[in-house]
Amino acid sequence: MLSLWQVIPEQKTIKLPSLDIEHTPSFALRSVWNGMGHRWYLGGVPLNCGHAHSRLFPPSDYYQEHPDFYPLIRGKRWNPETGGPWQLCTSNSEVIRLTIEKARRFFDEHPQQVMFSLSNNDCGGFCECEACAATGSNPGARMLAFANAVARGLRQTHPDKYVIFLAYWYTHEAPREKMQAEPGVAVMVLGEGCHAHALTDPSCPRNKRWHDNFEKWVATGARMAIYEWYIPGCTQHYWRRIPWVAEETAIRDQHYWRVRGVQWITYEAQRAYEDGDGYPLRWPLYYVAAKGMWDASLSAEEILRDACGKLYGPAAEPMLAYYLTLAQAVAECPQHGNIWNLPNPLAVYPPDTVGNLRHHLAQAQKIAREDGGAVWERVQVEMRTWSRAQKTLEKLRQQKETSVNISVNDKGYIVDQPTITGAFIRSIGGIPTWEHVLLIGEDGTEREIGDEEELSVVDGMRFRSVGERGLDK
Ligand SMILES: [Zn+2]
Ligand SMILES: [Zn+2]
Repeated sequence: MLSLWQVIPEQKTIKLPSLDIEHTPSFALRSVWNGMGHRWYLGGVPLNCGHAHSRLFPPSDYYQEHPDFYPLIRGKRWNPETGGPWQLCTSNSEVIRLTIEKARRFFDEHPQQVMFSLSNNDCGGFCECEACAATGSNPGARMLAFANAVARGLRQTHPDKYVIFLAYWYTHEAPREKMQAEPGVAVMVLGEGCHAHALTDPSCPRNKRWHDNFEKWVATGARMAIYEWYIPGCTQHYWRRIPWVAEETAIRDQHYWRVRGVQWITYEAQRAYEDGDGYPLRWPLYYVAAKGMWDASLSAEEILRDACGKLYGPAAEPMLAYYLTLAQAVAECPQHGNIWNLPNPLAVYPPDTVGNLRHHLAQAQKIAREDGGAVWERVQVEMRTWSRAQKTLEKLRQQKETSVNISVNDKGYIVDQPTITGAFIRSIGGIPTWEHVLLIGEDGTEREIGDEEELSVVDGMRFRSVGERGLDK
Protein backbone atom coordinates (compact mmCIF):
# COMPACT_ATOMS: atom_id res chain seq x y z
CA MET A 1 0.00 0.00 0.00
CA LEU A 2 2.85 2.36 0.83
CA SER A 3 4.05 2.39 -2.78
CA LEU A 4 0.67 3.74 -3.90
CA TRP A 5 1.36 6.84 -1.80
CA GLN A 6 4.90 7.42 -3.04
CA VAL A 7 5.31 9.75 -5.99
CA ILE A 8 8.52 9.33 -7.94
CA PRO A 9 8.62 11.69 -10.92
CA GLU A 10 9.79 9.96 -14.09
CA GLN A 11 12.46 11.72 -16.08
CA LYS A 12 14.69 10.19 -18.73
CA THR A 13 17.51 12.61 -18.03
CA ILE A 14 18.14 14.62 -14.92
CA LYS A 15 19.94 17.92 -15.30
CA LEU A 16 21.39 19.20 -12.06
CA PRO A 17 22.11 22.87 -11.67
CA SER A 18 24.97 23.74 -9.33
CA LEU A 19 23.70 23.00 -5.85
CA ASP A 20 24.51 24.96 -2.75
CA ILE A 21 21.85 24.17 -0.16
CA GLU A 22 22.33 24.66 3.53
CA HIS A 23 19.40 23.79 5.76
CA THR A 24 19.13 23.39 9.50
CA PRO A 25 15.98 21.45 10.44
CA SER A 26 13.59 23.38 12.66
CA PHE A 27 13.73 20.58 15.27
CA ALA A 28 16.77 18.47 16.09
CA LEU A 29 14.75 15.30 16.82
CA ARG A 30 11.91 14.56 14.41
CA SER A 31 10.06 11.34 15.00
CA VAL A 32 6.72 9.91 13.87
CA TRP A 33 6.24 6.29 14.95
CA ASN A 34 4.89 3.60 12.70
CA GLY A 35 7.59 3.53 10.08
CA MET A 36 5.18 5.33 7.79
CA GLY A 37 7.30 8.40 7.54
CA HIS A 38 10.67 7.04 6.57
CA ARG A 39 11.06 9.44 3.66
CA TRP A 40 9.67 12.44 5.47
CA TYR A 41 12.85 14.18 6.70
CA LEU A 42 12.53 12.39 10.04
CA GLY A 43 15.44 11.41 12.26
CA GLY A 44 18.06 13.60 13.86
CA VAL A 45 19.10 13.00 17.45
CA PRO A 46 18.30 9.40 18.55
CA LEU A 47 15.30 9.11 20.85
CA ASN A 48 15.73 7.38 24.22
CA CYS A 49 13.00 8.29 26.70
CA GLY A 50 11.23 5.00 27.57
CA HIS A 51 10.12 3.78 31.00
CA ALA A 52 13.34 3.11 32.83
CA HIS A 53 12.95 2.33 36.54
CA SER A 54 12.47 -1.44 36.12
CA ARG A 55 15.14 -1.55 33.44
CA LEU A 56 17.67 0.32 35.58
CA PHE A 57 17.02 -1.66 38.77
CA PRO A 58 15.26 -4.99 38.06
CA PRO A 59 13.95 -6.26 41.43
CA SER A 60 15.33 -9.72 40.60
CA ASP A 61 18.86 -8.25 40.57
CA TYR A 62 18.67 -5.71 43.36
CA TYR A 63 15.80 -6.30 45.75
CA GLN A 64 17.38 -8.90 48.00
CA GLU A 65 20.37 -6.76 48.91
CA HIS A 66 18.71 -3.40 48.50
CA PRO A 67 15.01 -3.30 49.40
CA ASP A 68 15.69 0.38 50.14
CA PHE A 69 15.99 1.06 46.38
CA TYR A 70 12.26 0.39 46.11
CA PRO A 71 9.41 2.59 47.30
CA LEU A 72 7.93 3.04 50.72
CA ILE A 73 4.15 3.06 50.15
CA ARG A 74 1.77 3.81 53.02
CA GLY A 75 4.52 3.10 55.48
CA LYS A 76 5.46 -0.28 53.99
CA ARG A 77 8.43 -1.14 51.79
CA TRP A 78 7.28 -2.42 48.40
CA ASN A 79 8.28 -6.00 47.76
CA PRO A 80 8.24 -8.23 44.68
CA GLU A 81 6.27 -11.00 46.46
CA THR A 82 3.18 -8.86 46.94
CA GLY A 83 3.96 -6.92 43.76
CA GLY A 84 1.89 -3.94 42.63
CA PRO A 85 2.99 -0.73 40.95
CA TRP A 86 6.34 0.68 41.98
CA GLN A 87 8.92 3.37 41.23
CA LEU A 88 12.44 3.80 42.53
CA CYS A 89 13.21 5.53 45.81
CA THR A 90 14.67 8.45 43.88
CA SER A 91 16.32 10.14 46.86
CA ASN A 92 18.39 7.06 47.74
CA SER A 93 22.08 8.00 47.35
CA GLU A 94 23.05 4.53 46.09
CA VAL A 95 20.26 4.61 43.49
CA ILE A 96 21.64 7.97 42.33
CA ARG A 97 25.28 6.81 42.32
CA LEU A 98 24.51 3.62 40.39
CA THR A 99 22.29 5.48 37.92
CA ILE A 100 25.17 7.87 37.17
CA GLU A 101 27.40 4.83 36.57
CA LYS A 102 24.83 3.23 34.29
CA ALA A 103 24.40 6.46 32.31
CA ARG A 104 28.18 6.80 31.89
CA ARG A 105 28.48 3.22 30.67
CA PHE A 106 25.55 3.71 28.28
CA PHE A 107 27.12 6.80 26.69
CA ASP A 108 30.55 5.15 26.50
CA GLU A 109 29.02 2.18 24.70
CA HIS A 110 26.69 4.30 22.53
CA PRO A 111 28.55 7.54 21.84
CA GLN A 112 25.98 8.59 19.20
CA GLN A 113 23.25 8.71 21.86
CA VAL A 114 22.41 12.07 23.40
CA MET A 115 19.85 11.29 26.11
CA PHE A 116 19.60 8.73 28.90
CA SER A 117 16.12 7.92 30.17
CA LEU A 118 15.18 8.19 33.83
CA SER A 119 11.43 7.92 33.10
CA ASN A 120 9.31 6.26 35.75
CA ASN A 121 7.53 2.93 35.23
CA ASP A 122 4.17 3.21 33.48
CA CYS A 123 2.11 3.15 36.69
CA GLY A 124 1.80 4.71 40.15
CA GLY A 125 3.68 3.48 43.22
CA PHE A 126 5.87 6.52 43.91
CA CYS A 127 8.03 6.41 47.01
CA GLU A 128 6.59 8.22 50.02
CA CYS A 129 9.65 8.04 52.27
CA GLU A 130 10.61 11.17 54.18
CA ALA A 131 13.75 11.77 52.13
CA CYS A 132 11.82 11.56 48.83
CA ALA A 133 9.07 13.81 50.16
CA ALA A 134 11.74 16.36 51.11
CA THR A 135 12.97 16.53 47.49
CA GLY A 136 9.72 17.89 46.06
CA SER A 137 6.03 18.54 46.55
CA ASN A 138 4.71 16.20 43.85
CA PRO A 139 5.96 13.28 41.69
CA GLY A 140 7.05 15.71 38.93
CA ALA A 141 9.18 17.70 41.38
CA ARG A 142 10.74 14.52 42.80
CA MET A 143 11.61 13.27 39.33
CA LEU A 144 13.25 16.61 38.59
CA ALA A 145 15.25 16.37 41.83
CA PHE A 146 16.37 12.84 40.84
CA ALA A 147 17.32 14.02 37.32
CA ASN A 148 19.24 16.96 38.81
CA ALA A 149 21.23 14.66 41.09
CA VAL A 150 22.12 12.30 38.21
CA ALA A 151 22.95 15.20 35.86
CA ARG A 152 25.34 16.73 38.41
CA GLY A 153 27.34 13.49 38.46
CA LEU A 154 27.08 12.69 34.77
CA ARG A 155 28.30 16.04 33.51
CA GLN A 156 31.70 15.59 35.19
CA THR A 157 32.48 12.94 32.58
CA HIS A 158 29.87 13.61 29.85
CA PRO A 159 29.11 17.34 29.81
CA ASP A 160 27.40 17.21 26.40
CA LYS A 161 24.83 14.53 27.32
CA TYR A 162 21.35 14.71 28.84
CA VAL A 163 19.21 12.78 31.27
CA ILE A 164 15.54 12.90 30.32
CA PHE A 165 12.25 11.91 31.88
CA LEU A 166 8.64 11.81 30.72
CA ALA A 167 6.31 14.31 32.36
CA TYR A 168 2.98 12.51 32.11
CA TRP A 169 0.12 11.13 34.20
CA TYR A 170 1.49 11.31 37.78
CA THR A 171 4.53 13.34 36.76
CA HIS A 172 2.73 15.63 34.30
CA GLU A 173 2.14 18.36 36.86
CA ALA A 174 5.19 20.63 37.04
CA PRO A 175 6.81 21.18 40.46
CA ARG A 176 4.51 23.30 42.62
CA GLU A 177 7.51 24.99 44.22
CA LYS A 178 10.15 27.02 42.42
CA MET A 179 12.77 24.57 41.16
CA GLN A 180 15.66 24.95 38.75
CA ALA A 181 16.82 22.18 36.45
CA GLU A 182 20.54 21.45 36.35
CA PRO A 183 22.29 21.79 32.98
CA GLY A 184 21.95 18.43 31.23
CA VAL A 185 18.37 17.78 32.35
CA ALA A 186 15.65 17.39 29.71
CA VAL A 187 11.92 17.02 30.37
CA MET A 188 9.67 15.44 27.76
CA VAL A 189 6.13 16.71 28.39
CA LEU A 190 3.26 14.64 27.02
CA GLY A 191 0.30 16.00 25.08
CA GLU A 192 -2.26 15.54 27.83
CA GLY A 193 -4.41 18.39 26.58
CA CYS A 194 -7.23 18.48 24.02
CA HIS A 195 -6.29 17.22 20.57
CA ALA A 196 -9.19 18.93 18.83
CA HIS A 197 -7.75 22.39 19.39
CA ALA A 198 -4.42 24.18 19.38
CA LEU A 199 -2.49 24.30 22.65
CA THR A 200 -2.45 28.09 22.47
CA ASP A 201 -6.21 28.30 21.85
CA PRO A 202 -7.44 30.33 24.87
CA SER A 203 -11.02 29.15 24.32
CA CYS A 204 -10.04 25.53 24.99
CA PRO A 205 -10.07 25.09 28.78
CA ARG A 206 -8.04 21.87 28.74
CA ASN A 207 -5.34 23.33 26.57
CA LYS A 208 -5.24 26.43 28.74
CA ARG A 209 -4.42 24.12 31.65
CA TRP A 210 -1.86 22.19 29.58
CA HIS A 211 -0.27 25.43 28.42
CA ASP A 212 0.00 26.91 31.93
CA ASN A 213 1.52 23.69 33.28
CA PHE A 214 3.97 23.50 30.36
CA GLU A 215 5.07 27.08 31.05
CA LYS A 216 5.93 26.02 34.60
CA TRP A 217 8.13 23.24 33.24
CA VAL A 218 9.78 25.73 30.87
CA ALA A 219 10.45 28.00 33.85
CA THR A 220 12.62 25.29 35.47
CA GLY A 221 15.14 25.93 32.68
CA ALA A 222 15.21 22.26 31.62
CA ARG A 223 15.72 21.40 27.97
CA MET A 224 12.16 20.92 26.77
CA ALA A 225 10.98 18.03 24.62
CA ILE A 226 7.53 16.91 23.46
CA TYR A 227 5.88 13.51 23.29
CA GLU A 228 2.69 14.00 21.34
CA TRP A 229 -0.09 11.43 21.32
CA TYR A 230 -1.60 10.93 17.89
CA ILE A 231 -3.51 7.79 18.84
CA PRO A 232 -7.24 8.56 19.23
CA GLY A 233 -8.08 4.95 18.30
CA CYS A 234 -6.29 3.67 21.40
CA THR A 235 -9.39 3.90 23.60
CA GLN A 236 -12.03 5.27 21.22
CA HIS A 237 -12.42 2.40 18.76
CA TYR A 238 -14.58 4.33 16.31
CA TRP A 239 -11.67 6.71 15.67
CA ARG A 240 -9.80 3.75 14.18
CA ARG A 241 -12.06 4.15 11.15
CA ILE A 242 -12.57 7.92 11.01
CA PRO A 243 -10.15 10.43 9.47
CA TRP A 244 -8.60 13.09 11.70
CA VAL A 245 -6.77 15.87 9.87
CA ALA A 246 -5.67 18.53 12.37
CA GLU A 247 -2.83 19.82 10.21
CA GLU A 248 -3.21 23.51 11.07
CA THR A 249 -3.33 22.66 14.79
CA ALA A 250 -0.21 20.51 14.47
CA ILE A 251 1.74 23.38 12.94
CA ARG A 252 0.44 25.94 15.43
CA ASP A 253 1.53 23.67 18.27
CA GLN A 254 4.99 23.23 16.73
CA HIS A 255 5.42 27.01 16.45
CA TYR A 256 4.55 27.40 20.11
CA TRP A 257 6.93 24.63 21.19
CA ARG A 258 9.71 26.09 19.09
CA VAL A 259 9.33 29.52 20.65
CA ARG A 260 9.53 27.86 24.09
CA GLY A 261 12.81 26.17 23.23
CA VAL A 262 11.66 22.66 22.29
CA GLN A 263 14.16 20.88 20.07
CA TRP A 264 13.02 17.27 20.33
CA ILE A 265 9.60 15.97 19.27
CA THR A 266 8.19 12.49 18.97
CA TYR A 267 4.66 11.70 17.74
CA GLU A 268 3.29 8.42 18.94
CA ALA A 269 1.39 6.88 16.02
CA GLN A 270 0.46 3.22 16.07
CA ARG A 271 -1.09 1.05 13.38
CA ALA A 272 -2.56 -1.12 16.14
CA TYR A 273 -4.97 1.76 16.73
CA GLU A 274 -6.16 1.98 13.12
CA ASP A 275 -8.36 -0.49 11.29
CA GLY A 276 -7.02 -1.82 8.02
CA ASP A 277 -4.26 0.17 6.42
CA GLY A 278 -3.93 3.32 8.49
CA TYR A 279 -2.15 5.17 5.72
CA PRO A 280 -5.07 6.86 3.88
CA LEU A 281 -6.69 7.56 7.24
CA ARG A 282 -3.75 9.34 8.85
CA TRP A 283 -1.15 10.47 6.32
CA PRO A 284 -2.41 14.06 5.93
CA LEU A 285 -1.83 14.79 9.62
CA TYR A 286 1.42 12.85 10.10
CA TYR A 287 2.89 14.16 6.86
CA VAL A 288 2.19 17.81 7.66
CA ALA A 289 3.60 17.34 11.19
CA ALA A 290 6.72 15.64 9.79
CA LYS A 291 7.41 18.33 7.19
CA GLY A 292 6.71 21.08 9.71
CA MET A 293 9.42 19.71 12.01
CA TRP A 294 11.85 19.92 9.10
CA ASP A 295 10.92 23.41 7.93
CA ALA A 296 8.95 25.67 10.25
CA SER A 297 8.63 28.35 7.58
CA LEU A 298 5.98 26.29 5.76
CA SER A 299 2.29 26.69 6.57
CA ALA A 300 0.08 23.64 7.05
CA GLU A 301 -1.87 24.45 3.92
CA GLU A 302 1.28 24.87 1.84
CA ILE A 303 2.51 21.42 2.89
CA LEU A 304 -0.84 19.78 2.22
CA ARG A 305 -1.35 21.59 -1.08
CA ASP A 306 2.06 20.43 -2.30
CA ALA A 307 1.31 16.83 -1.28
CA CYS A 308 -2.13 16.90 -2.94
CA GLY A 309 -0.60 18.26 -6.14
CA LYS A 310 1.79 15.33 -6.27
CA LEU A 311 -0.68 12.62 -5.24
CA TYR A 312 -3.81 13.76 -7.05
CA GLY A 313 -2.63 15.79 -10.05
CA PRO A 314 -5.72 17.23 -11.77
CA ALA A 315 -7.92 16.19 -8.80
CA ALA A 316 -5.72 18.05 -6.31
CA GLU A 317 -8.13 20.95 -5.65
CA PRO A 318 -11.20 18.92 -4.59
CA MET A 319 -8.99 16.54 -2.56
CA LEU A 320 -7.34 19.47 -0.77
CA ALA A 321 -10.81 20.90 -0.13
CA TYR A 322 -11.81 17.51 1.34
CA TYR A 323 -8.84 17.42 3.76
CA LEU A 324 -9.28 21.09 4.73
CA THR A 325 -12.97 20.47 5.45
CA LEU A 326 -11.99 17.55 7.71
CA ALA A 327 -9.47 19.79 9.49
CA GLN A 328 -11.87 22.70 9.88
CA ALA A 329 -14.52 20.39 11.32
CA VAL A 330 -12.31 19.28 14.19
CA ALA A 331 -10.87 22.76 14.84
CA GLU A 332 -14.40 24.21 15.09
CA CYS A 333 -15.82 21.36 17.15
CA PRO A 334 -17.34 22.78 20.36
CA GLN A 335 -16.50 19.61 22.30
CA HIS A 336 -13.03 18.88 23.68
CA GLY A 337 -10.82 15.84 23.75
CA ASN A 338 -8.49 14.74 26.50
CA ILE A 339 -5.10 12.97 26.80
CA TRP A 340 -5.10 11.17 23.44
CA ASN A 341 -8.88 11.19 23.01
CA LEU A 342 -10.78 13.27 20.50
CA PRO A 343 -14.33 14.62 20.88
CA ASN A 344 -17.26 12.46 19.89
CA PRO A 345 -17.12 12.04 16.08
CA LEU A 346 -20.78 13.06 15.82
CA ALA A 347 -19.87 16.45 17.29
CA VAL A 348 -16.91 16.75 14.89
CA TYR A 349 -18.75 15.75 11.71
CA PRO A 350 -22.38 16.94 11.78
CA PRO A 351 -24.61 16.04 8.77
CA ASP A 352 -23.94 19.24 6.77
CA THR A 353 -20.16 18.69 7.07
CA VAL A 354 -20.63 15.11 5.89
CA GLY A 355 -22.53 16.52 2.91
CA ASN A 356 -19.64 18.88 2.05
CA LEU A 357 -17.07 16.10 2.37
CA ARG A 358 -19.07 13.88 0.02
CA HIS A 359 -19.37 16.74 -2.45
CA HIS A 360 -15.55 17.25 -2.57
CA LEU A 361 -14.95 13.53 -3.01
CA ALA A 362 -17.53 13.33 -5.82
CA GLN A 363 -15.76 16.21 -7.61
CA ALA A 364 -12.40 14.46 -7.21
CA GLN A 365 -13.89 11.21 -8.47
CA LYS A 366 -15.22 12.88 -11.61
CA ILE A 367 -11.82 14.31 -12.53
CA ALA A 368 -9.69 11.35 -11.41
CA ARG A 369 -11.74 8.76 -13.26
CA GLU A 370 -10.85 10.42 -16.56
CA ASP A 371 -7.20 10.60 -15.56
CA GLY A 372 -7.04 6.96 -14.43
CA GLY A 373 -3.78 5.45 -13.14
CA ALA A 374 -2.44 5.98 -9.64
CA VAL A 375 -4.43 9.21 -9.13
CA TRP A 376 -7.69 7.35 -9.67
CA GLU A 377 -6.56 4.52 -7.42
CA ARG A 378 -5.65 6.93 -4.59
CA VAL A 379 -8.95 8.78 -4.87
CA GLN A 380 -10.77 5.44 -4.73
CA VAL A 381 -8.88 4.43 -1.59
CA GLU A 382 -9.80 7.73 0.09
CA MET A 383 -13.43 7.32 -1.01
CA ARG A 384 -13.57 3.83 0.50
CA THR A 385 -11.93 5.19 3.66
CA TRP A 386 -14.58 7.88 3.96
CA SER A 387 -17.47 5.45 3.27
CA ARG A 388 -16.23 3.30 6.13
CA ALA A 389 -16.04 6.40 8.34
CA GLN A 390 -19.55 7.44 7.36
CA LYS A 391 -20.92 3.99 8.21
CA THR A 392 -19.26 4.30 11.60
CA LEU A 393 -20.85 7.74 12.11
CA GLU A 394 -24.26 6.30 11.21
CA LYS A 395 -23.81 3.49 13.70
CA LEU A 396 -22.78 5.99 16.38
CA ARG A 397 -25.83 8.10 15.63
CA GLN A 398 -28.01 5.07 16.28
CA GLN A 399 -26.34 4.46 19.66
CA LYS A 400 -25.99 8.13 20.54
CA GLU A 401 -27.68 7.74 23.92
CA THR A 402 -24.76 5.79 25.34
CA SER A 403 -22.19 8.56 24.85
CA VAL A 404 -22.20 10.99 27.77
CA ASN A 405 -20.00 13.54 29.48
CA ILE A 406 -18.80 13.06 33.03
CA SER A 407 -16.30 14.99 35.13
CA VAL A 408 -13.49 13.74 37.33
CA ASN A 409 -11.76 16.32 39.53
CA ASP A 410 -13.39 19.04 37.40
CA LYS A 411 -11.97 17.70 34.15
CA GLY A 412 -14.47 16.56 31.51
CA TYR A 413 -14.42 13.11 29.90
CA ILE A 414 -16.54 11.43 27.27
CA VAL A 415 -17.78 7.96 28.12
CA ASP A 416 -19.29 5.73 25.49
CA GLN A 417 -20.16 2.68 27.54
CA PRO A 418 -23.34 2.12 29.56
CA THR A 419 -21.65 1.17 32.84
CA ILE A 420 -18.42 2.18 34.58
CA THR A 421 -16.53 1.08 37.68
CA GLY A 422 -14.56 2.94 40.33
CA ALA A 423 -11.40 1.55 38.74
CA PHE A 424 -12.45 3.08 35.41
CA ILE A 425 -12.83 6.53 37.02
CA ARG A 426 -9.43 6.04 38.69
CA SER A 427 -7.81 5.20 35.36
CA ILE A 428 -9.27 8.02 33.25
CA GLY A 429 -8.72 10.56 36.01
CA GLY A 430 -5.18 9.39 36.79
CA ILE A 431 -6.13 8.95 40.46
CA PRO A 432 -3.41 7.23 42.50
CA THR A 433 -4.25 4.08 44.42
CA TRP A 434 -3.88 5.78 47.81
CA GLU A 435 -6.71 8.22 47.08
CA HIS A 436 -10.44 7.54 47.31
CA VAL A 437 -12.91 8.05 44.47
CA LEU A 438 -16.06 9.93 45.45
CA LEU A 439 -19.31 10.28 43.50
CA ILE A 440 -20.83 13.76 43.97
CA GLY A 441 -24.63 13.61 44.03
CA GLU A 442 -26.89 16.28 42.51
CA ASP A 443 -27.53 17.66 46.00
CA GLY A 444 -23.79 17.84 46.70
CA THR A 445 -23.64 14.79 48.97
CA GLU A 446 -20.72 12.49 48.34
CA ARG A 447 -20.17 8.78 48.65
CA GLU A 448 -17.11 6.62 48.08
CA ILE A 449 -17.07 4.32 45.04
CA GLY A 450 -15.05 1.10 45.37
CA ASP A 451 -12.83 0.03 42.51
CA GLU A 452 -15.09 -2.93 41.77
CA GLU A 453 -18.39 -1.08 42.16
CA GLU A 454 -20.35 -0.80 38.93
CA LEU A 455 -22.47 2.26 38.13
CA SER A 456 -24.87 3.01 35.31
CA VAL A 457 -23.38 6.04 33.63
CA VAL A 458 -25.53 9.18 33.42
CA ASP A 459 -24.72 12.38 31.56
CA GLY A 460 -23.23 15.03 33.87
CA MET A 461 -22.03 12.61 36.58
CA ARG A 462 -19.33 14.17 38.76
CA PHE A 463 -16.50 12.49 40.65
CA ARG A 464 -13.60 13.71 42.72
CA SER A 465 -10.74 12.12 44.59
CA VAL A 466 -9.46 12.73 48.11
CA GLY A 467 -6.48 11.49 50.07
CA GLU A 468 -6.71 9.59 53.39
CA ARG A 469 -7.09 12.74 55.49
CA GLY A 470 -9.68 14.34 53.19
CA LEU A 471 -11.95 11.37 53.78
CA ASP A 472 -11.72 11.54 57.58
CA LYS A 473 -12.88 15.14 57.72
ZN1 LIG B 1 12.15 7.32 48.83
ZN1 LIG C 1 -10.32 21.72 23.13
